[in-house]
Amino acid sequence: MTAPISTPTYDGRAVINGERIAALDGQTFDCVSPVDGRLLTAVARCGQADVDAAVRAARAAFESRRWSGMAPAHRKRILIKFADAVLAHGDELALMETLDMGKPVKYAKGVDVNSAANCIRWYGEAVDKVYDEIAPTGSNALALITREAVGVVGVIVPWNYPMIMAAWKIAPALAAGNSVVLKPSEKSPLTALRLADLALAAGIPPGVFNVVPGYGPEAGSPLALHMDVDCIAFTGSTRVGKQIHVMAGQSNLKRAWTELGGKSPNIVFADCPNLDRAVEAAVGSIFFNQGESCNAPSRLFVEASIKDAFLEKALKLVPSYQPGNPLDKGTVMGAIVDQVQLESVMRYIGLGTSEGAQLIAGGALASPVAGGCYVQPTIFDGVTPEMTIAREEIFGPVLSVLSFTDAASVVREANNSVYGLQAAVWTSDINKAHGVARALRAGTVHVNQYDEDDITVPFGGFKQSGVGRDKSMHAFDKYTEMKTTWIRIDSPV
Ligand code: NAD
Repeated sequence: MTAPISTPTYDGRAVINGERIAALDGQTFDCVSPVDGRLLTAVARCGQADVDAAVRAARAAFESRRWSGMAPAHRKRILIKFADAVLAHGDELALMETLDMGKPVKYAKGVDVNSAANCIRWYGEAVDKVYDEIAPTGSNALALITREAVGVVGVIVPWNYPMIMAAWKIAPALAAGNSVVLKPSEKSPLTALRLADLALAAGIPPGVFNVVPGYGPEAGSPLALHMDVDCIAFTGSTRVGKQIHVMAGQSNLKRAWTELGGKSPNIVFADCPNLDRAVEAAVGSIFFNQGESCNAPSRLFVEASIKDAFLEKALKLVPSYQPGNPLDKGTVMGAIVDQVQLESVMRYIGLGTSEGAQLIAGGALASPVAGGCYVQPTIFDGVTPEMTIAREEIFGPVLSVLSFTDAASVVREANNSVYGLQAAVWTSDINKAHGVARALRAGTVHVNQYDEDDITVPFGGFKQSGVGRDKSMHAFDKYTEMKTTWIRIDSPV
């Protein structure tokens, strides 16, 4: 059944100081759907002047203390209202997300809308339960250790989970009392703009949450380089993430937090407790969101003695992941975000073949909807560690299968990556599970599953997968400064 194509109403203008406004120079860019190539709307192409205006508004709002000075319990009520509004507009937001970046509408609603709303609610509920500290100093003084909002937070996010990536940053930043300027990806700007409308309607004061759509070098760089932005929170590629840290250093040494790429290893030992579950997780997780997930387990290491049995089961599942119309409620794999990304995925598939890997599934374009961007779910066997498809993040539905014979060598190979976002190990041996989990250099390690996820746990990476953690109470550390206040006590008694 196909979802109604009652196209949502789009407003591509920026949100600055509580107003919808065009870019100051009037420029726009076309927002085109990867579902079928239709033009969705023109979006404000913000640049330096617009970023300056948004930062000015954010600074003025922060200094006015109309949000930063509000009691946490009051901010909580408004954030919960904002989360409720996201759910109430769930159908509209999901359809917008699907048309904008191609994911199946059932996941846009069931995963993205719900997860973004849950994140906003969770930080809202948390913020009036955070206590500060008193240090155990001598009796003639009192030392208070308090956390204060950092000030103006710049947020730059990618296109793969536009609402969730934005929520992971704006929710803790706003809950802590900061003002935010959000730069969504130029490939998926629409839901971020709509979220700002909903935030304003829920009572977040004008200037506290601004959105400046536009291209990275034109709108993102001015934000990362801005002398009046106190913190930049970035999710995206490792290539751009490195530039973000440089820009922070070149400007005002703003705090820079980065959630970057991954090439996550998924290690299946022959004593895996449930091979069917391991196969489903390996296949389902690499093809979920069209493979456009930073934590996709894109390197599958299977112990040699079970590899044939594993792949036989995996190949049986592949047909159920054939891309379909993302607006069809039964579709599990949708469109790649745009033509550029589609060509990049196809280039990697070409490299896999030319470097000697064995293509055992997919490998070609698909066309469930004319004019859209689709590729078949693809699996390469016989991949070796030096091949490009074993080293680089493809960010598409392409699985690289490698085999191994012992724990020490597979851990060495799993860690042989510039990335360290996630990893998994499947075994019935508790010693092996703990030993391998400890040895893996990754921000998250899964044991005998790959799909557990919760707002209560930190998310982020070792090595070049980034600096800092999203989610959980630890995220507050990124959006607050720690202050010590010494108070002398001249005791009269
Ligand atoms: P990208 O780095 O190309 O772009 C990310 C954002 O940065 C976009 O908003 C873009 O406009 C902006 N940008 C680009 N150039 C810029 C510049 N010079 N200055 C400032 N901003 C700039 O990444 P993408 O293609 O949008 O997203 C895919 C990447 O995101 C993948 O590498 C993926 O692994 C990563 N990602 C990581 C996580 C995580 O939590 N670790 C989550 C999702 C995605």
